[in-house]
Amino acid sequence: MTQTIQFRKSREMITYEALNAVITGNAFLPSISLVPLLQHRGSPANPLVAPGEQVREGQLIARGSSSDSAHIHSPIPGIIQKFKTVPQPDGSMGVVAVIRLSGAFDILGKKQEQNNWRYSSEREITGILEDKGVICTFEHPDPLVPLIRAAKKKGRPVLVVRLFDLDPTCQTDSMLAEQYFSIILEGAAIIARALDASAVLFVYSGKEKNQFTISADISSELFHKRKILFRRVEARYPSGNTGCFNEIYGAAFPDGKTGSTLFIDPVTAISVWEAVVQNKPILYRYISVSGHALKKPAFLKVRIGTPIGDVIEECGGFKADPARIIVNGLLTGTSVYDLDTPVTKYTKSLHIMDNESCPSYSVNNCIHCGRCVQVCPVSIDPYKTVANIRKGIFSPKTISDIRTCQNCGCCVIVCPSRIPMHHIISEAESRMQKGEYK
Ligand code: SF4
Ligand code: SF4
Repeated sequence: MTQTIQFRKSREMITYEALNAVITGNAFLPSISLVPLLQHRGSPANPLVAPGEQVREGQLIARGSSSDSAHIHSPIPGIIQKFKTVPQPDGSMGVVAVIRLSGAFDILGKKQEQNNWRYSSEREITGILEDKGVICTFEHPDPLVPLIRAAKKKGRPVLVVRLFDLDPTCQTDSMLAEQYFSIILEGAAIIARALDASAVLFVYSGKEKNQFTISADISSELFHKRKILFRRVEARYPSGNTGCFNEIYGAAFPDGKTGSTLFIDPVTAISVWEAVVQNKPILYRYISVSGHALKKPAFLKVRIGTPIGDVIEECGGFKADPARIIVNGLLTGTSVYDLDTPVTKYTKSLHIMDNESCPSYSVNNCIHCGRCVQVCPVSIDPYKTVANIRKGIFSPKTISDIRTCQNCGCCVIVCPSRIPMHHIISEAESRMQKGEYK
């Protein structure tokens, strides 16, 4: 099914093939799992196991090394073979624990726990979220608990839940919102409690009528006296990032009487529900797998650490020569070239492109057409910013533009010279965060 994306600022349109699938269940368990020690921004976890050790399903195998580091658990029972460095879905290289599947399952196929979190304190809930290695995947992947603590510190926090995808071509968050709305509600209620949120704002996109409603009884049972709001945003791109959400948030609370915000997506809400209600660490992710070079598009529940080559095999393999594999969306995603790249806590989609849908191209010089400027939703000059980064000119204006960039990818999509502007700006932003540029 062909879908259209209209850009927010220039109203330019692009089309993509939408995945026409429902969740098809668990993917096969990988015989070899490659579990990265770093699955978010920040610092890697420190391994607690050594080659040759047997690990249980769900066992803590690496401990978060600092406040910007989440614990890692073994997604399968097995034997640690070694640690090695492999490509990661964000294009970086990272260390993984190589685990060969063997032994009995402690979680899979067992009766699920149903803990009642309503009697748990804020501190107990954050303790569980930390223990289970929960991260937030709203925009950039970050450990969730430090975000909760930071929002609480600023006072009167509001929880904002996006019920659609940051990059519409991913489709994972939208599909989860449709299929697991009651779990997402309860996950949001758990975070609202940990946060002591004054209000919870659910934001959905593009539907004529709000299919995401909540009865007064459920609202009172889950959220007590917290204010619950639903808001619709226009289906234009971008509409799901922090910058756009700050506008929605401002419009929802025009009296300005609220304080800080914590933004979450359906993936995060479901992880929280599983951690707190089912006492389960993060062991898998729901992933949409599509593209013209793939035999059978699918929406699968895939164990963390599964090589993407195994996921493609589960979908019947390639039906045409793959030109490119894109992780996490055609607009904001990253190309990966190695089938051993593992699924991580921040993986949401795989697009397997053929030569026709994604012809190979070379990057050319800027022809000064101005399309990137017209389409940029935050009105910066993407090419000028990139040119300054390349020349090492970090003027206050360039630094401000780098910080203002929303990494939406609109500039790259429209650029006839195929200049990867948002990747260059986003790379400069992470280097700035590490203090490399002053
Ligand atoms: S410069 Fe940044 S915000 Fe502007 S279009 Fe490019 S990626 Fe989007
Ligand atoms: S869209 Fe590409 S070619 Fe056109 S001005 Fe921007 S960088 Fe240059």
